[in-house]
Amino acid sequence: MAKKEAEAFVTEITPRSQDFSRWYLDVVRRAEMADYSPVKGFMVIRPYGYAVWERIQQALDRRIKETGHVNAYFPLLIPESLLHKEAEHVEGFAPQVAYVTHGGGEELEERLVIRPTSEAIIGTMYAKWVQSWRDLPILINQWCNIVRWEKVTRPFLRTTEFLWQEGHTAHETEAEAEEETLKILDLYAETVETELAVPVIKGRKSESEKFAGALRTYSIEALMGDGRALQAGTSHNLGQNFAKAFDITFQARDKSVQHVWGTSWGMTTRLIGAVIMTHGDDSGLVLPPRVAPYQAAIVPIGRDDWRETVLPKARELQRQLATAGIRVTLDERDERPGWKFAEWELRGVPLRLEIGPKDIEKSSVRIARRDTREKIDVSMNGLADHITRLLDEVQSSLFERAKTFREEHTQRVSTYEEFKAAMEGRPGFVIAPWCGSADCEAHIKAETQATIRNMPLDSKPVTGRCVHCDRPAQAEAWFAKAY
Ligand SMILES: [Zn+2]
Repeated sequence: MAKKEAEAFVTEITPRSQDFSRWYLDVVRRAEMADYSPVKGFMVIRPYGYAVWERIQQALDRRIKETGHVNAYFPLLIPESLLHKEAEHVEGFAPQVAYVTHGGGEELEERLVIRPTSEAIIGTMYAKWVQSWRDLPILINQWCNIVRWEKVTRPFLRTTEFLWQEGHTAHETEAEAEEETLKILDLYAETVETELAVPVIKGRKSESEKFAGALRTYSIEALMGDGRALQAGTSHNLGQNFAKAFDITFQARDKSVQHVWGTSWGMTTRLIGAVIMTHGDDSGLVLPPRVAPYQAAIVPIGRDDWRETVLPKARELQRQLATAGIRVTLDERDERPGWKFAEWELRGVPLRLEIGPKDIEKSSVRIARRDTREKIDVSMNGLADHITRLLDEVQSSLFERAKTFREEHTQRVSTYEEFKAAMEGRPGFVIAPWCGSADCEAHIKAETQATIRNMPLDSKPVTGRCVHCDRPAQAEAWFAKAY
């Protein structure tokens, strides 16, 4: 692309404070994370965005396997009749389902559903595979794509097709299924906080927000830079609902025939949206080092002869850092250093390494941190160790910053006046006592747009009265306007 065009490209980001939603779309497009596709509501994940997904995927896959789960793959298409076996499930998903009606030039006898989730097909297979208590537990995960027809879409946050992992487990007892559901919730929270530097609230969903067909749904909820909440992952205790619908039975230790206890859980490409909206700023992306495709970008500085004077040393540094396991790129393009700086800022690379003739003389490198914009001169001796330490520091400082932001945007209220004022004022989480009634929840949503994100697992027993109806409170709920 021409230089002038490129400069305009870098600077054309709507400020976050002016229009957060516009800012988000600008960053996604300009940082080449994703693009729109010819099919409305579907997105193309571009290589830079996909590289972030691969980092997330690897980190999550490792943890899923470490906890005893194995990966498998089930078909994309599901006979419609299977979806109808669990009544709540089909009711919940019916409006979003896409069908295949023809194949091989002929109309199919039975319509096929493009999976909106895989409980139906996996449950059908488990019914075949499980005979005895000795076959349990089954701990299977699959990485795949999902289609849920959406009316309003936004790259990564809500798209008709998305990528995810879905775990589906079957257990001998109710207690084991609950333990699994909560174990995964912890695993999700730990992954998102450690790898993405996004702090989350772990809690249980209300009845009206739970997964269609589940007994209980738990979620992790994050707060984005505009004060709106984002559900980052869910873990469902399915009880015996799907086991009964799909007839997944086993001979128990006492020889009786029983239904298995199930769970399912998923995290999606939406996490990329969470990273962008938690850490990004007016210059573009700010990527946590653990998921950044490049953790450092080397930019050679110099006069016209930089290819002779600076580049050999820059290449040597690149090799040195790569050997130490740092993901590093060297920007050899024929552009001004200033243009390259803006480009790597836009792409959110955690550290920029500037090296020019004077640095070479002093045997040092100038490092610029993306998160704080601090610049420090560091000796080339022991550079890899220094950078490794610095990357850890950036990772934890991003997490702390996001946590502080969340704390500053969380309020506790006890009256409905306070609640409404909080929702109209500075957006964020509002903690309030709630009576447990779906009716109250619906009224609050209609009047303030706020939904119950979840009820944290570690909250103390509540004593107060419902913020809306004044009946005795059942739980302390975290409300927010959400994506
Ligand atoms: Zn109430």
